[in-house]
Amino acid sequence: MHDANTTEPALHPDTIAITAGRPPHGPDAPMNVPVHLTSTYGAGGALEYGRYGNPSWTAFEDTLGALEGGRCVAFASGIAAIAAVLDLVEPGGTVVAPRHSYTGTFGQLEELESKGRIRAVFVDITDTAAVTDACADGAMLWFESPTNPALEIADIPAITRGAHEHGALVAVDNTFATPLLQRPLEHGADLVVHSATKYISGHSDVVMGAAIAASDDLAAALVHHRSLFGAIPGPLEVFLALRGLRTLPVRLERAQANAQELVRRLTGHPALDEVRYPGFGAIVSIVVRGGAEPADALIERTSLWVHATSLGGVESTFERRRRWPAEAPTIPEGLVRLSVGLEHVDDVHHDLASALDSLR
Ligand SMILES: *Cc1c(COP(=O)(O)O)cnc(C)c1O
Repeated sequence: MHDANTTEPALHPDTIAITAGRPPHGPDAPMNVPVHLTSTYGAGGALEYGRYGNPSWTAFEDTLGALEGGRCVAFASGIAAIAAVLDLVEPGGTVVAPRHSYTGTFGQLEELESKGRIRAVFVDITDTAAVTDACADGAMLWFESPTNPALEIADIPAITRGAHEHGALVAVDNTFATPLLQRPLEHGADLVVHSATKYISGHSDVVMGAAIAASDDLAAALVHHRSLFGAIPGPLEVFLALRGLRTLPVRLERAQANAQELVRRLTGHPALDEVRYPGFGAIVSIVVRGGAEPADALIERTSLWVHATSLGGVESTFERRRRWPAEAPTIPEGLVRLSVGLEHVDDVHHDLASALDSLR
């Protein structure tokens, strides 16, 4: 059903996104693996039951796995993939994680720690020496880079090496960068996680996740977790996520170009204390001068930008992150995270700049 040679090294990622996970070419062969809506399969095969496997999952997994350079396992959501990866930590093991990260990940770590399941240690992920030291008795180094929403950058090869010297597994949430801008497995990481809800599906119409493992053993452990605990993606969701993944290279190219131009035009605006941008990707965090009140006013005074959480869709969205009580208190009250979309940059800039000008 699926092509096992999806890791063909001669192909560029843009091509892999288009060609991987397809049925073999042939007369009357469908272009796409169809949506397999079935709860069970005829006995005696490899799949057996709908919680154990689905050809629509496999098509998606082959494609994202080929892009990240590992074995992909699809999950019902990004947070379900994170739960499966954290479950690889032995009871009582230490997880080292950034003090700024996705609030759901932070919430899981706190919950697991409060139940005595793990010990969580939070670090400044940009401080390579501190991260490595914290891994001294670490079972797992978990991180995002860029971090959400502070947009800090980790030295991925260095902290991965440091963690491995202490025998810790290394897992990276690659949702912001996508495999087109950063492939952590190539830098030695053991696991990558995605909220496929974001850039991978890319159209704000799916909630889904995935974990990609560097080894067959880790992949098997993730499949075991998924089969046993049941955080499986729906066949339609996985079809839509793969359909989105096909155009990720062109979407990201446009979104990133828009983000870079927006950063160029907004930097130094008198209504802003800061424009944070790591130099790649399409997430920009602006810090509105004066805190929560002017930041909320900015959000109200735009018309094109959609006030909504989540990110990575074709449309430009934004939100003031501290409106969420779970957001880290070290994130400025006036920080507005922008997910720059694919509209014409003049339009998104004009909408935002007019609202910013009105704050002065
Ligand atoms: C959204 C997000 C998640 C959670 O994914 P869901 O698909 O919402 O469960 C995890 N990590 C990052 C960086 C995210 O942005």
